[in-house]
Amino acid sequence: MKKLFPVWLTIDSDDVFHHPKFQGHPTRSKKQIEKKSISDEMILSFEKFDDWHQKNLELPITIFLIGQQLECKKFKSFFKKILEKSKKNGGQITIGCHGYTHTCWSAFKPNNEKFRNDLQIAKKIIKEFAETSWRPWFRAPGGYIAPWMAEILKLEKFELDSSINPTKFLSIKSGKSEKGFGFNGWNSVHKAMNNAGIIERPWLTTFYPALPACGPALHFPFLKYFANSTWKKFTNYRVAIEDEIKDKNVEITTVYWHLLDFSKNKGKWTPPINKK
Ligand SMILES: [Zn+2]
Repeated sequence: MKKLFPVWLTIDSDDVFHHPKFQGHPTRSKKQIEKKSISDEMILSFEKFDDWHQKNLELPITIFLIGQQLECKKFKSFFKKILEKSKKNGGQITIGCHGYTHTCWSAFKPNNEKFRNDLQIAKKIIKEFAETSWRPWFRAPGGYIAPWMAEILKLEKFELDSSINPTKFLSIKSGKSEKGFGFNGWNSVHKAMNNAGIIERPWLTTFYPALPACGPALHFPFLKYFANSTWKKFTNYRVAIEDEIKDKNVEITTVYWHLLDFSKNKGKWTPPINKK
């Protein structure tokens, strides 16, 4: 029988216009949407997330927020209401950082200064909003994480990173190799995080071969069947407590989906979690 680990449930707050095809990527962003205010899909997602969360208050959730979203008054007030209600009813939502803008950092040449600046702005805005729910945890936009980013995360006092989608065919997202050819590969990102004293929490993949199982993989034709059944298997255990998430000697299973997913199937979608 396979061994199951405590499960960490995480959500990325991306709106429709944050997708790399619209912004933040040097070659994928072809349509360029400069929109920054909340979409109708997000408004519906907030409502449906709230419903789901209120029915599952015993499940702690970490939401990785994009700093810029909090500059939209509507987004901010919707989210604030959800957090307040959650707190009042005993829910446990913690908040991490998904960048200030949704820039796919490792798709560009390393730029320590720009990345650090983006992190600083994001951290300030999100921390101020989240107050006691803030955690110094990072998730790279689009899962674009390269080894050079680890040192900056450390300088900005981040303690945990959860950006690695450890499937080989996505190693392009680990950035162009600093040795000159090919890509850095996930091992070198892992190593860089380790050297910086940052805990890395890679995402759940399907068993073999390692295909993506989180985020968009939950909805891609074909892939979604594997992703959903993998979730059902690997979430058939208890949720991880914060001390476990932060302890590098404890193995956990990290899953992630998008807040916007709650608008799918006319608002009927819920994460395929096997609740114990
Ligand atoms: Zn994202």
